[in-house]
Amino acid sequence: MKYCSNCGKEIFDDAVICPMCGSMQEKTEQKPVKDKMNVAWFIISFLWWWVGIILYFAFRKSNPQKAKVCISGTISAFAVAAVIGLFALGVNIIDGVFGL
Ligand SMILES: [Zn+2]
Repeated sequence: MKYCSNCGKEIFDDAVICPMCGSMQEKTEQKPVKDKMNVAWFIISFLWWWVGIILYFAFRKSNPQKAKVCISGTISAFAVAAVIGLFALGVNIIDGVFGL
């Protein structure tokens, strides 16, 4: 539910005209933009994990959702780094065992 921008009465989210006072309601189409931005934040945090940590602490109070996106980008970067690290370690072990 949202509130009429004119009379302040509770109205349906998709209401174009307020049933109480008949005033036109502004379309709230901010969600797709927000989602797109979240992807950008995720990619930034993924590419520069330290930026993700800084952004996490910067947005933690003002925008917890964005903070979560940033820190998940950082965590994903660490996860990928860990997988690559384990893979490299595995290659090294195989090399050590079979490459004598
Ligand atoms: Zn109204």
